[in-house]
Amino acid sequence: MSSTNPKSYPAGPSHRVAFLGLGVMGYPMAGHLALAGHQVTVYNRTPAKSIAWCAEFAGSNGSQRAATPRQAAQGADIVFCCVGNDADLAQVTLGADGALAGMKPGAVLVDHTTASASVARELYGAAKNLGLQFVDAPVSGGQAGAQNGALTVMCGGDPAAFDAMQPVAMAFSKAVTLLGASGAGQLAKMVNQICIAGLVQGLSEAIAFGQQAGLDMNQVLEVIGKGAAQSWQLDNRGKTMVADKFDFGFAVDWMRKDLGLVLDEAKRNGARLPVTALVDQFYADVQHMGGKRWDTSSLIRRLR
Ligand code: NAP
Repeated sequence: MSSTNPKSYPAGPSHRVAFLGLGVMGYPMAGHLALAGHQVTVYNRTPAKSIAWCAEFAGSNGSQRAATPRQAAQGADIVFCCVGNDADLAQVTLGADGALAGMKPGAVLVDHTTASASVARELYGAAKNLGLQFVDAPVSGGQAGAQNGALTVMCGGDPAAFDAMQPVAMAFSKAVTLLGASGAGQLAKMVNQICIAGLVQGLSEAIAFGQQAGLDMNQVLEVIGKGAAQSWQLDNRGKTMVADKFDFGFAVDWMRKDLGLVLDEAKRNGARLPVTALVDQFYADVQHMGGKRWDTSSLIRRLR
């Protein structure tokens, strides 16, 4: 199970919160909330993960697990959620056992899933009709960012809802920023993924070219990483790409889901994304090569 590395937590009042979805990301995010002094009720579809989470975190401040999202949400000031996609999100939030059915008036539902802007706006409307609040809040920073409590969180919603969740979400983040009305967080995450797609293909071509040319690419990356070619991907994945290692977090399957969201949104808003569409197909090649769970830097495998 994911480890959670304690950090220095922001001072502030302790809240009763819920966390739905204890996956690679959610498990350590919920862990940071407990370590920061909040009383956390967790829900996970597969109980083994919530049992393991409680064994690790429940002792100190009354944190516990619940059998349904609705039960977890009862009495919480803020309900955090991090599941897979739009359909999963609907399952944990809507319906008789969904979180919205259990939340107290005025409480805030915060969704960290990478999902569509349209599902964010639907949930915002559904929450509002019930006297609740909703913030779409997808994250960047990967598994390591979640474990170290250093995620970047991109938010869409009303300022009052944002003001309520921001200080609490800082338990697992280095920056939590409101970028506009409902859906703006998901749209900003799409911008992030467009940047990454093109960049990783460029880095793949550069490293494959350098290796073909017989250069010591670890040395070359050290040098060009101090100049204009520097990037997070080069710093964190360059040498692992040279070593042909692809076990470093964000999986190709997830990236294809995200690029699907991006390309759907571009159809709606008319943006032209020729390179992103091409890289999406390159990731489909990697899936066919058996790389569904390889990390996103495995694009270079197509070039070897
Ligand atoms: P993950 O490890 O696969 O975890 C997914 C979680 O969602 C699990 O707790 C799973 O429960 C739960 N879930 C899925 N479908 C569900 C359903 N229908 N009903 C109830 N629970 C359901 O995924 P992850 O890596 O944590 O990613 C979660 C989200 O964060 C995704 O949207 C992903 O794109 C995004 N994200 C991930 C990363 C990363 O590096 N991993 C980085 C940024 C953003 P079970 O345990 O029962 O399967």
